[in-house]
Amino acid sequence: MADGRKIRYYDSHGQSRSAADRRPADDQPAIGEMRLDLLTNEWVAIAAHRQGRTFLPPKELCPLCPTTGEMLSEIPDSDYEVVVFDNRFPSLKSPDKGWTLPEENGIETEIPAAAGICEVVCFTSDHGTSFGELSTRQIRTVLEAWRDRTRELSQLDFVQQVFPFENRGEEIGVTLAHPHGQIYAYSYLTPRTEKMLASARRYFARHGRILLDDVIKRELQDQVRIIAQNDHWIAYVPFAARYPFEIHVAPLVGVPDLTALSTAAADAFPEIAHEVLARLDGVFNIPMAYIAAWHQAPVREGRDVMRLHWQITSIRRAPGKLKYLAGSESAMGAFIMDMKPEQSAAQMREVTIK
Ligand SMILES: [Zn+2]
Repeated sequence: MADGRKIRYYDSHGQSRSAADRRPADDQPAIGEMRLDLLTNEWVAIAAHRQGRTFLPPKELCPLCPTTGEMLSEIPDSDYEVVVFDNRFPSLKSPDKGWTLPEENGIETEIPAAAGICEVVCFTSDHGTSFGELSTRQIRTVLEAWRDRTRELSQLDFVQQVFPFENRGEEIGVTLAHPHGQIYAYSYLTPRTEKMLASARRYFARHGRILLDDVIKRELQDQVRIIAQNDHWIAYVPFAARYPFEIHVAPLVGVPDLTALSTAAADAFPEIAHEVLARLDGVFNIPMAYIAAWHQAPVREGRDVMRLHWQITSIRRAPGKLKYLAGSESAMGAFIMDMKPEQSAAQMREVTIK
């Protein structure tokens, strides 16, 4: 790209891509800082430049549509299948050589640069669709892009964890309507990953088995929370769901991350993704706002016990009603659910798939 960022095209039939970025080279924002919340020992990335980012532009000014005529977007070519490029407003950036995460964390500690990588994944050139409505081939291409980026980002010496995700819907703060997701490669383990890693390790030490394998075994026994299944994947509402509609999608043969998926499992993913998202949208017959998050094992530890899964959470309780994270959830991290997971699973199973 003109300003030095990198763009990658993922195509299913070998097009050559050479369109030049004709925009003037903007200055790149400086790297932010990472501050440690001493009370919880959790990192907070502070990226003050993100205030200026594009907020819900009209379709004709969409920066994620292909370039047409004089409308120069983030994608120089006039068409694309899937693209991944460096985020123009990154919360985390590639640090100077030799950057390390401070080990001793105290009040006297120096403030480290917010090291990491933030990328944007455009799922399709079609502005008016959604991930769940993409063709099988298109979802497969997106999956391949996630796999490729996980592989490459995992090789950077400052990266500890790679997190592909999608935010969908204005209700949860999406600032661009174009179907897209993001990838964060963190230079530290996120609080949720640290917790999941500790649980997986504790379980393995106690039982000698992989935690997620046993969770899936229980779902297969109980059946009541399963909402979709094929030869390679299972989708279920977790036993202790935190959100009105929460779905976990996991490969039946556990793997640490996307790169370790078999070709057969990767090929079977679009089918289950279609079904899960159709069931979610079918509950109230409206496009559901959701967060779809790929939980992967960290890059350098825990790969023997942590297993890949795709977590979809929606804060919508009913048409016109959202679940807000209020006192108990926000201040204490203690979730209160007013619906049984078995009930939301039944509602999603009852949806007739067209
Ligand atoms: Zn667009």
